[in-house]
Amino acid sequence: MRRKIVAGNWKMNKTVDEAVDLVRSLKEKLAQGPVDDVDVVVCPPFVDLVPVRDVIAGSKIGLGAQNMYWEDAGAYTGEISAGMLLSAGCSYVILGHSERRQYFGETNATVNKRLKKAFAAGLTPIMCVGERLEQRQAGITQAVVEIQVREGLADITADQAKQMIIAYEPVWAIGTGVNATPEQAQEVHRFIRELLAKMFGEDTAEAVRIQYGGSVKPDNAAELMSQPDVDGALVGGASLKAESFYEIVRAASQRS
Ligand code: PEP
Repeated sequence: MRRKIVAGNWKMNKTVDEAVDLVRSLKEKLAQGPVDDVDVVVCPPFVDLVPVRDVIAGSKIGLGAQNMYWEDAGAYTGEISAGMLLSAGCSYVILGHSERRQYFGETNATVNKRLKKAFAAGLTPIMCVGERLEQRQAGITQAVVEIQVREGLADITADQAKQMIIAYEPVWAIGTGVNATPEQAQEVHRFIRELLAKMFGEDTAEAVRIQYGGSVKPDNAAELMSQPDVDGALVGGASLKAESFYEIVRAASQRS
């Protein structure tokens, strides 16, 4: 049985002080509730990583970044390396978020370079895939997702793939308040798992955790995550408040 994983993508939100407040409240809430069967990860902006690391020290909250460059060091103004993320306490890194693809020109090929570097460095990648509205309407959701998965995971071994997380995030559901229905999410998650089975074998496909992302809220989280192939959530807006993020973690837990 795959362990559920709920990650908060804070995007470009929270100053250092705000980040510390948020993660302190979250830590307190998580300490109250019986949710130790869920992996909980927060992904703040880069400048917040170290102060957040210091607050979550000794707790089970994992730390992730929202992006990373594939080179080790050098003249890459504005970029951040895997080594820097590790030194700031990260274990996870989100790669290929649709906002990175839409606004910053990321492609499946550059996502693949980042993914290889993340694996080489020992970071767990959360690779995002998902179709835009017009692609869903044109009936090409599976074709789009297949290319993203195949090209994003080019030259990745089964042992590496097993450790990663894929986030299925339909672009039309991100930040819109319109989530995919549990059935729509399950259909694409099942498709991704079958694709992984073709690429890496059944064992690997069964091990990979596939999160759903796109307007996950406390009131829709349980139903989405009760689908057999939905192994957790990547949460944007609702991760910016400790209460709503905690409620989503509780929805993922079998113990609460
Ligand atoms: C996201 O940014 O990954 C996301 C899913 O955002 P939201 O939950 O706000 O739709």
